[in-house]
Amino acid sequence: MSNQPIAVRPVGAFTDNYVWLIEAPRRPGAVVAVDPGEAGPVQAELDRSGHSLAGILLTHHHPDHIGGVRELLDRASAPRASIPVIGPDDPRIPVLTRTARDGERCELPDLGLGFDILHVPGHTLSHIAFWGHGALFCGDTLFSAGCGRMFEGTPVQMTASLNRLRSLPQETKVYCGHEYTAANLRFALTVEPENRAALEYQESVAQLRARDTPSLPSRMSLEIRVNPFLRCDVPAVRAAASARAGRALEEAADVFGVLRAWKDQFR
Ligand SMILES: [Zn+2]
Repeated sequence: MSNQPIAVRPVGAFTDNYVWLIEAPRRPGAVVAVDPGEAGPVQAELDRSGHSLAGILLTHHHPDHIGGVRELLDRASAPRASIPVIGPDDPRIPVLTRTARDGERCELPDLGLGFDILHVPGHTLSHIAFWGHGALFCGDTLFSAGCGRMFEGTPVQMTASLNRLRSLPQETKVYCGHEYTAANLRFALTVEPENRAALEYQESVAQLRARDTPSLPSRMSLEIRVNPFLRCDVPAVRAAASARAGRALEEAADVFGVLRAWKDQFR
């Protein structure tokens, strides 16, 4: 079931969030929403497309990812009890009907959807990612050419989380929670000015964004080539982080910690 391709489309929310709508392979006209932080734009897309909400997946507790859940459930045509709301076990997410733990399979059999759950702490401690159908819904853990801020975790945790995502199949489509790609690439090219893949990607992203087209989804194979936070073991990245720190960094988590702090200051 998890290999069946899925149709996914973005709904823009707030200034740079994406809510991803996944069409249910087994129930035409039904969609599952990932991280609906805001109800209005999602409901407008449902009204426009004639699709109905059949489930909600949540990656982490931040309001810009869960804030629209209640209103969407209130406005849904299906009975509220029939719409699963699935996310990490965290009291800060009071709207769940089902919790998802690391290593579990999250099956929605009547919709023809199934995802593996990966616990990826770092941005928040309970953050999870959904992987299935060749797609990764990773919330604010991995961005294209960047990663989420470390609000709750440590560099060791975040490095381990990103390594898990990096080890997924190369062709995995990466659906991130925000459109940050262009700004992330400016930082990536500050770390690795000679990275040809990042330079080429910057050009194609600029063209997409000029037409107001999302730069996402990305591909894991591309992220491995351009995303400095997935490249902490690459000599050029380690050298740049060491120069920034003023000392020789050996461990990937130390390289990560310096890069993340550097990015936090970067304008
Ligand atoms: Zn967040």
